[in-house]
Amino acid sequence: MSANLPRLRFAPSPNGLLHLGHAYSALFTWQAAERLGASTLLRIEDIDIERCKPEYDAAILRDLAWLGLEWPEPVWRQSLRFEHYRAAAAELNAHQLLYPCFCSRRIIAAHARGTDPDGAPLYSGTCRHLSPRECADRLERGEPVQYRLDMERALALTGPLTFTLVGPSVLDRPQIRYAQPQRWGDVVLQRKETPTSYHLSVVVDDAAQAITHVTRGRDMEAATDIHVLLQFLLGLPSPIYNFHNLIRDQSGAKLAKSKGSPSLASLRESGWTPEKVRAQLGLA
Ligand code: GLU
Repeated sequence: MSANLPRLRFAPSPNGLLHLGHAYSALFTWQAAERLGASTLLRIEDIDIERCKPEYDAAILRDLAWLGLEWPEPVWRQSLRFEHYRAAAAELNAHQLLYPCFCSRRIIAAHARGTDPDGAPLYSGTCRHLSPRECADRLERGEPVQYRLDMERALALTGPLTFTLVGPSVLDRPQIRYAQPQRWGDVVLQRKETPTSYHLSVVVDDAAQAITHVTRGRDMEAATDIHVLLQFLLGLPSPIYNFHNLIRDQSGAKLAKSKGSPSLASLRESGWTPEKVRAQLGLA
């Protein structure tokens, strides 16, 4: 695998059926890859073992094939790669950058110091200064635990961080942007129910798959702060980032599985063709 060849990826989570927003992201990515003479890999982000389902995984493959999209390499599934995420977490832990947090959602919300860029409560650091003895006792008692990044310690190692942004087209001139990881506070890198988190696994896998360009929706732009920080701490290369527009419904809201946006499968059943999807999304 040559590091110089452009490689893109599409990385859906199989926790529901794909809708037009996903179709836009997929078609945008394959189109960007075509412009760069690159391949697009398919990575199923199924770390959330409770919400991800095999039937949604199968539906993703069906929907993408229906749209006429192909991926030249075998599909990666994150649920088969937990050992790699554990190894990355162990590396951070070896530099004392992780700490166990036993707080419930209720406690986190009650002590929050404002919100992070996603609007979630910003962790106040309640568990950051627990003694090693107390941590050991609580772990031994089997208390549910998640592991957080000590943001202050991490930033003391990095200095200012930047990333390369390109867009709206992947062929536009790249620009350098400053990342602002501090606005996320002590993010969770290993969740209670899975030995990783979106941020940790995405960074590990983008590097493992030698991804050169990450194309994703604008709603994920702020998360790049954390990804760039983790890349620095883990000694991984940083891809070029491109953030595409989001597809919205008539009320202006972002399409979402949780809001019952129509699935591609239901549009297909009601007679939509891949050409109609492309035309609707302005990607014909
Ligand atoms: N798995 C994420 C999602 O379905 C996308 C991750 C990414 O593109 O980095 O929203």
